[in-house]
Amino acid sequence: MATIRVHELRKEFVTDTSSVVAIENISFEVTGHEFVSVVGPSGCGKSTLLNILSGIEPVTSGQVEITEGERRARMGYVFQAARLLPWRTVLDNLMFVQPTGGPQARQRCERYLDMVQLKHTAKQYPGQLSGGMQQRVGIARAFSIEPDMLLMDEPFSHLDAITARSLRRELHAMWMETKKTVLFVTHDVSEAVELSTRIVMLAKGGRLVADIPVELPFPRDPSSDDVALARADLLRRFESLDLLAT
Ligand code: ADP
Repeated sequence: MATIRVHELRKEFVTDTSSVVAIENISFEVTGHEFVSVVGPSGCGKSTLLNILSGIEPVTSGQVEITEGERRARMGYVFQAARLLPWRTVLDNLMFVQPTGGPQARQRCERYLDMVQLKHTAKQYPGQLSGGMQQRVGIARAFSIEPDMLLMDEPFSHLDAITARSLRRELHAMWMETKKTVLFVTHDVSEAVELSTRIVMLAKGGRLVADIPVELPFPRDPSSDDVALARADLLRRFESLDLLAT
């Protein structure tokens, strides 16, 4: 079972003239078939946390463990932009990240393209696709390496509302089908309520101020009363974060 364990993590950026605490002593654990969203206002350390989890950024102090049983977990990433290689076809973008080539890898790539309903674009180039379609290819690419867990950084923030809504549905269906562990960063509270089993809230100064289970059944209709109530409750907490930071 894939697990992220963050223990008393602190990150301070120090330059010659100043220092900024991006993450202040946070601890949490994500394990198994969970979909955990990290929400918080701009500048509260969300990207820094993801960069640390993905190994790009060293910690100042504390521990981060990302495991699958006894070994380090294999991770898939989805970013704000799809970051596809424009000179490769859609299928070749997926093949490019496979550990081995051959017919099995190809079948796997086609299966995940099918899951995001883009199998018919396999031979096209990214430039021939809309932004939403490119992002779906990015999601298929992340799932296609069959990672133990997925780290997603505001993957729908650059898309129009209708496209983002349909991609959220697709992502939810894939999460249900593949049973992956997902850590999902967003500043969009509605999105977090719609998708998550749990929401971790960060406040300015990189403090963890709430870790809230979302106990609504799936699939969640964003326009239902239950979802609206949960969203309103979370927004109230979200709005108080500025006060908490002072
Ligand atoms: P978020 O993703 O929530 O918007 P970030 O993780 O990008 O927040 O930033 C958290 C804080 O750390 C901010 O005050 C930001 O200016 C600072 N910060 C982020 N990266 C660096 C860096 N490389 N050098 C110095 N300060 C940084």
